[in-house]
Amino acid sequence: MTPKVAIIGAGFGGLCMAIRLERAGIRSYTVFEKGDDLGGTWRDNTYPGAGCDIPSHLYSYSFEKYTSWTRRYPGQPEILGYLEHCADKYDVRRQIRFSTEVTAAAFDGSHWQLTTATPGAEPEAFDVVVMGVGQLNRPHLPDIPGMDEFEGTSFHSARWNHEHDLTGRRVAVIGNGSSAAQFIPRVAEQAERLEVFQRTPNWVIPKPDATFGPAAKLAFHFIPGLQRAYREWIYRYAEGTLYPALAQGWSQDLLKKRALNHLHDQVKDPRLRARLTPDYPPGCKRVVIDSSFYPALCRPNVDVVTEKIVRITPKGVKTAESPHEVDTIIYATGFRSTEFLSPMRVTGRGGRDLAEQWAGGAEAYLGISAPNFPNLFMLYGPNTNLGHNSIVFMIECQVNHIMACMPYLSQGMRLEVRPEVMAAWRDQLDAAMARMVWGDGCQSWYKTAEGRVTNNWPGPSTLYRRLTARPPRPAYRQV
Ligand code: FAD
Repeated sequence: MTPKVAIIGAGFGGLCMAIRLERAGIRSYTVFEKGDDLGGTWRDNTYPGAGCDIPSHLYSYSFEKYTSWTRRYPGQPEILGYLEHCADKYDVRRQIRFSTEVTAAAFDGSHWQLTTATPGAEPEAFDVVVMGVGQLNRPHLPDIPGMDEFEGTSFHSARWNHEHDLTGRRVAVIGNGSSAAQFIPRVAEQAERLEVFQRTPNWVIPKPDATFGPAAKLAFHFIPGLQRAYREWIYRYAEGTLYPALAQGWSQDLLKKRALNHLHDQVKDPRLRARLTPDYPPGCKRVVIDSSFYPALCRPNVDVVTEKIVRITPKGVKTAESPHEVDTIIYATGFRSTEFLSPMRVTGRGGRDLAEQWAGGAEAYLGISAPNFPNLFMLYGPNTNLGHNSIVFMIECQVNHIMACMPYLSQGMRLEVRPEVMAAWRDQLDAAMARMVWGDGCQSWYKTAEGRVTNNWPGPSTLYRRLTARPPRPAYRQV
């Protein structure tokens, strides 16, 4: 039999799964996508300056090399264009149901019944469900009193208001992470005044961006193995130098030095430099990779405000010490990263509610499978985010694992991760986590309010590739 597969989400993850099924000749899949187009992160984040911070020769599928990248770190339109190219080339677009949000997935003892938000639609049965909803899909807005009272224009960076011209405006940006670092230089050029409200400074290292001219593109196209070698080099560099820093190893001091040198080179004012110097180890929060962020903060029309925000007023932002009147507030406050799969209601074997099972923090074997939820697989699930390398690499490892389960699923088996395998996995994860830099010293989107790191993979990605490449069957029992 060919299993009927539901894939939820049409970002890098869901598309990868669809393409691999298509290439394996399994056409009995449907991709559900709540948005009206594909691309996920790269459809939603259209803010000025949006782009990747892992070079695209690596931040792309290994099976679909692209010789048209115009630069090392391309912008959002180019990455979205790549995903569109992949969907068209592998002919998966016809299987995507756009504007269809899955609101519930319930296991009825033999099948998964999916409910969508589409009015009048009946639940639909599937043998297998693959969740590709991402970790950074739902914008997080802070809980600041008075936000509704603001009389100007406000929006989240992942829902950029392109109708709103920032020219000559007084703008407040709340937040200073990777997205803010990318758009602040563009906003600073337009705004009359820009105030960046910073809770904690980030470690920032330069972005070694470069354009690929016609000669480089031709070389990538025609020299056999060049693109593969370049991709491999980027991968090994990230793995060999950045990962040890996050594991508090030999390169942590080097990373710190590189960031401090960057700060000293770009920020000459000692008072501003002091405000921008973090007091926690680099990598505890995601390191910002950008070369134009600090120069923007040094502009005469830009101010970095470190006072605590107490409320939003009709006219602007009020801190403990002073009111800041602005026309526009941009929330660069990240995503609801620890609420995996939410707000979907997922009910497994015996009516088990996934949100209840995960009350202490989301967890899954390899970040892919959870006990009590047979034939349900996750892409970019718990503990599979990286602070140093490409998420697409991780997604491909997950898809390899699911594809290795396919022969069993095609026999009609219902596979559920064994509880003892899950328990051993949890122990391994906890032990590995203890040596990582994410634990103490900072708040980050990597962990729950209680401090459990639910998002990041605590090992080298080479180890993750090895673990996901093992024959999957022994880890699962049939239910
Ligand atoms: P997403 O891209 O988030 O896609 C999930 C899809 O699922 C979305 O289209 C969403 O609409 C859909 N969906 C969600 N819920 C439902 C539902 N209930 N029903 C139907 N559809 C649903 N990673 C890197 O490795 N390198 C980078 O340089 C990098 N840069 C980034 C820059 C930004 C601004 C952001 C936000 C993230 C970045 N990331 C980066 C992380 C990035 O999220 C991942 O690399 C990758 O895009 C995740 O793909 P995904 O398919 O898992 O999730």
